[in-house]
Amino acid sequence: MKKIVMFSFISMLMLVLVSACSSGGSQDERASEPSTGDVRETTASVNDLPGFLDAKSDDMKTLYTAVAKSQDLLESIPCYCGCGEFGHTSNYDCFINQNNEDGSLVWDDHATKCQACLDIAAESIVEFSNGKSVKDIRTMIDKKYQEGDYPEPTPTPDV
Ligand SMILES: [Zn+2]
Ligand SMILES: [Zn+2]
Repeated sequence: MKKIVMFSFISMLMLVLVSACSSGGSQDERASEPSTGDVRETTASVNDLPGFLDAKSDDMKTLYTAVAKSQDLLESIPCYCGCGEFGHTSNYDCFINQNNEDGSLVWDDHATKCQACLDIAAESIVEFSNGKSVKDIRTMIDKKYQEGDYPEPTPTPDV
């Protein structure tokens, strides 16, 4: 039961993100610098969201929490927003800068301002919850974004 609820919730989230995406995405928006001025904030655990999300939508908060709980998956998925130039090595870095041994973590607000980052994370998490393998998701994301007019991907190690 719990899985079904989670699935339908994520599907809804996906729809919201996809519709947000179709209203934007011009060349100019993609070209604006993705990393300058990014805010970083530390909290005690993945269940403790950073203050920069306070004014954001519930969907955004849900996605950030889902990302924090999907580290293994998203560290294997590249980001195509151009953030590799700023030292990101995977889509995970667009949301979370660092995990500490005591369970605390440093969140990054980059993805709140970046549709490609949000779309890639949401799609990956949805497909993973559908049972798709990390390798298949990687292949799917690479194919989709290499066909589009996107910057170079982050240097994410092969799966
Ligand atoms: Zn980005
Ligand atoms: Zn990114």
